[in-house]
Amino acid sequence: MADPGILVVNAGSSSIKYAAFRQDDAAEPLLLGKGQIEGLGSHPRFVGKNERGVVLGEKHWPAESFNHAQGMRFLIDWLEHNEADIRIVAAGHRVVHGGLLYSGPVRLDARVIEELRQFEPLAPLHQPHNLAAIGALAEAFPDLPQVGCFDTAYHRTQPPQAQIFALPWAMSERGVRRYGFHGLSYEYIARRLPEFVPRARRVVVAHLGNGASMCAMRDGRSVGSSMGFTAVDGLPMGTVPVPSIRACCCISCRHRGWDARRIETLLYKESGLLGVSGISNDMRELLASDEVGAHRAIELFCYSIAKQLGALAAVLGGIDALVFTAGIGEHAAAIREDVCRRAEWLGIRLDAAANRAGGPCITSAASPASAWVIPTDEEKMIAIHTRDLLATA
Ligand code: ADP
Repeated sequence: MADPGILVVNAGSSSIKYAAFRQDDAAEPLLLGKGQIEGLGSHPRFVGKNERGVVLGEKHWPAESFNHAQGMRFLIDWLEHNEADIRIVAAGHRVVHGGLLYSGPVRLDARVIEELRQFEPLAPLHQPHNLAAIGALAEAFPDLPQVGCFDTAYHRTQPPQAQIFALPWAMSERGVRRYGFHGLSYEYIARRLPEFVPRARRVVVAHLGNGASMCAMRDGRSVGSSMGFTAVDGLPMGTVPVPSIRACCCISCRHRGWDARRIETLLYKESGLLGVSGISNDMRELLASDEVGAHRAIELFCYSIAKQLGALAAVLGGIDALVFTAGIGEHAAAIREDVCRRAEWLGIRLDAAANRAGGPCITSAASPASAWVIPTDEEKMIAIHTRDLLATA
């Protein structure tokens, strides 16, 4: 008899990333494997790996012959044939925007999906694709329970002054707010923090991946974030700039005749580390490069993190701990070292050897505030939410 399994889905415009978990009585769902279908709409290709990253299967399809719906059908079928003894009993989705409506995971039905559609203009590059995968799965497997987990939800605990803009109030009521993103990552870190720093009440977490943001937590709850209405806020990211670009966009529209699509491409695809360095959006490549552009981008990245850290520390009235997570946060010791040196005024005393070794604690025993490397796991957070929500349904 096959064990129940949870499929976690993170669907983008041209890719569907998945993770499969065994759902048994253990405290946390057990990862069985991960993979993705890439190149939807161009050259669709699939790779599925086991929990150790060993490739279990690969497949290519002829160009343009494959959409989200076919992708979801293929995934379920492949998992049930290739993942030892599981039967998918539920799907959990990463959905970028829950707007003002959702401050926690929700069981997805036709009404909820319609509600979530109204947030598409708030996250045009992600929300429509998240919903496309949900719709495709509902069509292919109408009886499969589906759960939506939101990147915005964790931040809904922020106080009103952190959430609103100085814009006409009616706009705020219609959803023009500071939301904050990467919530599933922060929630996972908050869940694990007591294992590392049980007494830390004021914590800043730096999620430094291709997308990058920071979150101020008090007692495990979000009270401030570097991101706002959209993800184009706070830190420079792989291809996304720092926020003071707004006025520059208005100027480009007025004087160069740029339209919304051109501005969107500039903001989401051409800026950030890529735009500043002129080399790459990938931190590994920048760290390995001797080019002036690479140094400029790294300097801007670390400077911006230190600046946001100061702002978030002010929100908290000081910090007890600083946490680094996601691709750069977990693996780039040089970036952590640079940021920690800039944070000495906050009581961070780096232990350089521990930092080079990857932590988890990277400050000296006498450091007034501690710094940590804690791997994030957004997929596991979604699997936990999916299991818990369906257990109480
Ligand atoms: P995403 O936001 O796409 O999930 P990740 O969390 O995987 O991104 O982070 C991707 C970033 O992490 C890239 O800039 C990559 O270069 C960087 N990264 C991954 N491994 C290393 C490493 N060993 N050293 C430096 N940077 C790394």
